[in-house]
This record gives sequence, structure tokens and C-alpha cells, in this order.
Amino acid sequence: MTAEIISGKQTAKEWRARLKVEADELKSKGVVPCLTVIMVGDDPASLSYIKGKIKGCAEVGLRSELKRFPASMQEAELLEVIEQCNADEEIDGILVQLPLPPHISEQKVIETIRPDKDVDGFHPINIGRMVAGEEALISCTPQGIIQLLKAKDIAIEGKHAVVVGRSNIVGKPVGLLLLKENATVTYCHSKTPDLSTFTRTADILIVAAGRAGLIGADDVKEGAAVIDVGVNRTEDGRLVGDVRFEEVKEKAAYLTPVPGGVGPMTITMLLANTIKAAKKRRGLL
Ligand code: NDP
Repeated sequence: MTAEIISGKQTAKEWRARLKVEADELKSKGVVPCLTVIMVGDDPASLSYIKGKIKGCAEVGLRSELKRFPASMQEAELLEVIEQCNADEEIDGILVQLPLPPHISEQKVIETIRPDKDVDGFHPINIGRMVAGEEALISCTPQGIIQLLKAKDIAIEGKHAVVVGRSNIVGKPVGLLLLKENATVTYCHSKTPDLSTFTRTADILIVAAGRAGLIGADDVKEGAAVIDVGVNRTEDGRLVGDVRFEEVKEKAAYLTPVPGGVGPMTITMLLANTIKAAKKRRGLL
């Protein structure tokens, strides 16, 4: 079997076209949603991610602003900036780019953002609502993964989904979203003995370990849908996933590439969350 390659680029393009229509409708009502991105320090990778987010906003007709601060910024100062954004009626979404310098508590920062402006979906209120299956701002990568599966009409209900990775930003939430879609979910992590025993039983395999080439053809069930979340840089500077693409493509039914798979959907879901937050705060949802 040769897998159908799930193009995140294509699905993101279709989503952005729909989001632009939503943004235009809001504009006709005098509302232009605004995303504020806060960056502390000058990590080039973070800056490159932020540029993608700002470009995405412009593409669908959202406003965005970047607030940049030096790595020496104190935690109290950052919390004050967030409080100002919380109170600013013009701002619909607040995103603090992670990672932060070690002297700043990421958890404190996340918990200071107003939950209804928390477009990254990391605030405990949004996580709690998601766990309870309630309406929430849901973190972007997990949401993007579900939308990729749906875009290809890949059945989730009744299927066995195996998630490799249990981080708060990818593994845990994507498992919960799959559960909400009525999959039977197994979580694997670095302490799982004989990982392959589990991954080989997956109808849907989500790999978010951040380990280049962790999953090969022998670890995948024939005909599975494989979503590779991993982004790893090789010594020669290439970006590769956690899945050995060339091998697995001969066994899976669906496979996402890296780059061009999950990545473009992550930013697109951020744009969707910003529109959702803007609508919700104005009682338009
Ligand atoms: P973390 O490092 O926070 O979590 C990695 C998870 O994988 C942990 O739960 C860890 O287990 C588990 N793990 C590590 N090694 C193994 C192994 N050998 N076998 C089984 N499980 C293992 O990473 P993130 O969740 O933040 O990100 C995961 C990957 O996804 C990274 O490559 C990251 O760059 C990428 N990513 C991509 C995004 C995109 O938009 N494309 C967005 C976000 C992340 P344990 O808990 O036991 O330590």
C-alpha cells in the first residue's frame, strides 16, 4: 500500500479561505479581530514562528501586533504587560511565545492571560473545559491534527488511536480530542516498554515525541493513518519528523509530511481561535 499524503498546506489554505470570509463578515460589522504576540528575548526560531503567525493574520484580514522585550525583562514586568492586554478592549487574542527565559515562570504567565483571550488554549480553565468536553479555546496543534483527519474523512469513531507523547501542548490534548470523537485512546511515552507493541495496533497513530525517525514501517499497522507532529533538525540543517517517511509511506494509508503537514495547521488554528475569541467576547457566537 502507498499512503495518501495529507497535505497540511492544502488543508490550511482551504481553512484560511473560509476564515477570511468570516473575518470579512466581522469587518462589515466594524470588528477587526486583533492578535497580540508577546516575545521576550531574541531566539531566531521563535521569531520565525512569530513571523508566520503575523503573516497568517494579514492573510485572513486580522490585525496583529508584536510586543518585543529583552531577555532581561523581569517576570513582574511581563505579568503587568499581560494585565494591560487583558484590559485592552482592542485586543482579542494574547499569545506569549514560548519558551521564555528561565527566570520567568511559564505557568504563571499562562495563568495570567485572560482565559477568553487565551488563543493558545494553555490556560488551566481552557484545559479543564476541554477535559470536561465543554466549549473552550483549544490548543492549536491538537485542533489542527483533528481537522487534518476530518479533511480526509478519516473515521475516528470506534477506532484505536495511539498517541506517542504526553506533553500538555500536544500529546495529552490530542488524545482527549480523539476521545471526544469516540476513539479508543492509548497514550505512550518515554517510559512505555516496547513502544512498537502499542503503535502496531493503532488505526490512527499520532507521533509527538520530538525524536527523529522514532517510528518505522515495522511500528505501523498496514493501512493506518499516521500523523507526524515531530519537528527535528538534522545535523545538515534539514527538518525531519518522528516518522521515517519513506518507509512508512509504503505501509500506511495516510501520512503527513514534515514539513508541510501539521505545522501549517497549527498557525491556521491560531487564526481560527482569534476569530472565535473576538466573536465570543462580543456575543456574536
Ligand atoms: P515534549 O518534549 O514536551 O514531549 C515529548 C513527549 O514524547 C513526552 O511525553 C515524552 O515522554 C515522549 N517521548 C520522548 N521520547 C520518547 C520515546 N523514545 N518513546 C516514546 N515517547 C517518547 O515535546 P512536545 O509535545 O512539545 O512536541 C513534540 C514534537 O512535536 C517536537 O518535535 C516538537 O517540535 C513538535 N511540535 C510541532 C508542532 C507543529 O506545529 N508542527 C507544534 C508543537 C510541537 P515523557 O513524558 O515520558 O518524557
